[in-house]
Amino acid sequence: MSERPRLTVLSGPSGVGKSTVVAHLRKVHPEIWLSVSATTRRPRPGEQHGVQYFFVDDEEFDKLVANGELLEWAEFAGNRYGTPRRAVLERLAAGDPVLLEIDLQGARLVRESMPEARLVFLAPPSWDELVRRLTGRGTESPEVVERRLEAAKVELAAEPEFDVTLVNTSVEEVSRELLALMKVS
Ligand code: 5GP
Repeated sequence: MSERPRLTVLSGPSGVGKSTVVAHLRKVHPEIWLSVSATTRRPRPGEQHGVQYFFVDDEEFDKLVANGELLEWAEFAGNRYGTPRRAVLERLAAGDPVLLEIDLQGARLVRESMPEARLVFLAPPSWDELVRRLTGRGTESPEVVERRLEAAKVELAAEPEFDVTLVNTSVEEVSRELLALMKVS
């Protein structure tokens, strides 16, 4: 029996730095495969189709859902996000560690369908720091930031549901801890 957790789910409030941690991992460990989600959100400057996300319209997203092509999906701050199922299952079947960076609702759905998954909660060093990061990003309108802060309050309360909490004090440190959890050195 393998002790190795193969599916790791990184979740936590919007703005806590999940995508920064993932981008760092991608740079330091390009061999680690990361699931690329589909989303109906518009690309932010610099984001590329197939790299950060597969950017799709509502109709395409409906089709992915209807065809059962998503392992999980959730609506977040007015947009839909989902994990393409096939690529994840193929990687797991090949014995590769798989990392998903998804919101809390998605993490719960993965727990239901794949109880062996290890759920990691990325927590901000403090609430003030989270507010600073969310407002400082400058890519979203005040209304969107407000919605994300509301969502973050609810999400912070979910920490006890997770297997592990990592506090995002430094991206390098969190990446190291995450790699250790994934048993990648
Ligand atoms: P953003 O718009 O900032 O890139 O992402 C918003 C939120 O959606 C983040 O919390 C991110 O982790 C989450 N997210 C990204 N991809 C997925 C996915 O495939 N499924 C779910 N449930 N959430 C996702």
